[in-house]
Amino acid sequence: MRRTKIVATLGPATDTPETLTKVLQYVDVVRINFSHGDPEEHQARVEAVRKTATEIGRFVAVLGDLQGPKIRVARFANGPIDLAVGDKFTLNVTLDRNAGDQRQVGVDYPELADDVEPGDILLLDDGRLQLKVDEIAKPEVRCTVTVGGKLSNNKGINKQGGGLSAAALTDKDKKDLKTAIALKMDYLAVSFPRTGDDMREARALLGEEGKEIGLIAKVERAESVANQELMDDMILSCEGVMVARGDLGVEIGDAQLIGVQKKLIQRARSLNKVVITATQMMESMISSPLPTRAEVFDVANAVLDGTDAVMLSAETAVGQFPLETVQAMDRLCRGAEQERVAQQSNHRIHENFGHINEAVALSAMYAANHLDGVKAIICMTRTGLTPLLMSRIRSGMPIYAFSSQPLTQHRVALYRGVTTVPFSTSSTSPEAIQNAVNELKKRGAVKEGDNVIVTRGDQSGTHTMTIVRI
Ligand code: PGA
Ligand code: MN
Repeated sequence: MRRTKIVATLGPATDTPETLTKVLQYVDVVRINFSHGDPEEHQARVEAVRKTATEIGRFVAVLGDLQGPKIRVARFANGPIDLAVGDKFTLNVTLDRNAGDQRQVGVDYPELADDVEPGDILLLDDGRLQLKVDEIAKPEVRCTVTVGGKLSNNKGINKQGGGLSAAALTDKDKKDLKTAIALKMDYLAVSFPRTGDDMREARALLGEEGKEIGLIAKVERAESVANQELMDDMILSCEGVMVARGDLGVEIGDAQLIGVQKKLIQRARSLNKVVITATQMMESMISSPLPTRAEVFDVANAVLDGTDAVMLSAETAVGQFPLETVQAMDRLCRGAEQERVAQQSNHRIHENFGHINEAVALSAMYAANHLDGVKAIICMTRTGLTPLLMSRIRSGMPIYAFSSQPLTQHRVALYRGVTTVPFSTSSTSPEAIQNAVNELKKRGAVKEGDNVIVTRGDQSGTHTMTIVRI
């Protein structure tokens, strides 16, 4: 059993039924990227995933990912340009969108000239090129090239240190959010939230119709990780966070990214939220059937940090080896999970618990980790809260979330160490424990003589832990 979950972005590379069927054997959550494609395409992919997952007997959650206010240069009249160090280059927010040339280019963000000042560093194309701002002459931002290279149409712009003020939810995002509701997506990721307020706004926009969608904050702006208070506010404003290392790394610099990834994962887990580690994890596998050693250790590092999930972007969406990529990810997660640090925990050892639920969940994990012969935890759950709390503790113990609720069956697909088991017996019925144990025996997960820990409750929540010897 693999504990760390795999999120794979869907795209043309996974669209044939054969590939999708094979890829989904390894995938726990699919990502629908709203930056590409139209609602019909998204619908077709979501339907194909649900149908295929049912056929192969897996519970795969659907994560929509809103495009957000990614700021980009416009287009060049005569194709890509080459910028050399020392060249003067102007970003001009009023220039015709197709009229870029060697001297200047348009930008699709009218406030740019208000958000930057002389001395600022602008990073283009994920940091491959750098401009230093010399002068603001509205609507022009005049710069000198400090790192040169080729610049082509629609490449992204970030400001080093953050501070471009664009609101997180664009008009397009608000439309896509409705699509996410209509397609009954399980999770929705918001791009470039500035603070928890942007997430709370997204929650308000989801409203009653979208109240069951789990919101994920993509942490990709420097200002949202400036201190622990801001980080915690972001984490607590929604159901989970994504360490969006692409844009975040450009804004804060690659050296800072190391500590921020560790901190975000640790804070998310302590605050009982989920966390996804994303971007370039297996980048070379877009065009190679094997990962590099550096990628092997990057995935392993995220697993050892305690991430719930690792994410694939272009590797599975447009790469040449989507199946090899998810297979490699699966293999590497399992390998890293064998390490002791992946299984030991000091989680909240010196803290008090706020709820009965929490006390039962964490007691169960403690007992499971310390009593000999325990092979599994059966967690009967309606909302998925108890397995979430349990899975915040590092452990090698499999947690089986027994639930009759389709929403919960999919929601827990993102939680580290948690496996969905559909279960129709009421948790309060006298046969509940026996039926659940039988189900695990049938799966070969436990056998005669093993100990199993069972937690259950009723409408008021989880309040009971039982240890049974089979
Ligand atoms: P993106 O977000 O792939 O939508 O850009 C992830 C990241 O920036 O790392
Ligand atoms: Mn991004």
